[in-house]
Amino acid sequence: MFTFRNLTILFFILLFSLNVIHFIGCRLDWLDGHLCSHVYVYMVILLGLYIGISVGMAFLIGSNFHHPAICDGKTDEMICSLTFDDGPDPVRTAEILTILKREKIPATFFVIGKKLEGNETLIREMDADGHLIGNHSWSHSVWFDFFRGKRIRHELEETGKAVYACIGKTPLLFRPPFGVINPTISKAIDRLSLHAIGWNVRSYDTVQHDAKKTAARVLNKISPGSIILLHDHPANSPELVEEIISGLNGLGYKIVPITQLADINAYA
Ligand SMILES: [Zn+2]
Repeated sequence: MFTFRNLTILFFILLFSLNVIHFIGCRLDWLDGHLCSHVYVYMVILLGLYIGISVGMAFLIGSNFHHPAICDGKTDEMICSLTFDDGPDPVRTAEILTILKREKIPATFFVIGKKLEGNETLIREMDADGHLIGNHSWSHSVWFDFFRGKRIRHELEETGKAVYACIGKTPLLFRPPFGVINPTISKAIDRLSLHAIGWNVRSYDTVQHDAKKTAARVLNKISPGSIILLHDHPANSPELVEEIISGLNGLGYKIVPITQLADINAYA
């Protein structure tokens, strides 16, 4: 499998081989003068490729490059899961909970720790209604991916404690902010024994404000076992949720909790 570990091993093998070839080849005049005098250029190109691929793959959560992530359920059943990031929002989340309750549909809410204060009742309501609550970091800072390991762990632990204070359970489901997993975030996930949760259907609901168009795109990409990425703060999110639920019903899909798709525990 193409992982960060395998790429790192390959990088060092190529670097070592280049050095050996250069050392022996140039000493014994096997190589032409160009390669002998430009070997450092090839090393820099190799290093650039290694860094470029590692950084690029950090943005592709479904690649499992830096860390395995659950992005769908391996099933032929017509089932899928709804996930909401970046909440809770006192207005939109409450409206979405009302819709989900009416339709008897379970969802997963990946909450931002610092937003929990003042919204404890919403978190308790989610839990009481049978929804799952996951960790989406404390700050969701744009610099999160550059934080050191200790700070990342602190963010995840503090969010876990904040959720625990509301419902008496510590979330194990973690959705990385921006869907980015780098080696530092990967280590934090392992240290805290979390499950990294991605998606395979992205709604782009924060940039597309026409609920019907967004729902159509989601429904077009749906397949058995899909995990759908939504947000519970945009103004049109309640309308979008209604559209998606009605579309999924029309296609014959049943919406189930992520724990049913992936056979994992949501809480410690
Ligand atoms: Zn987010």
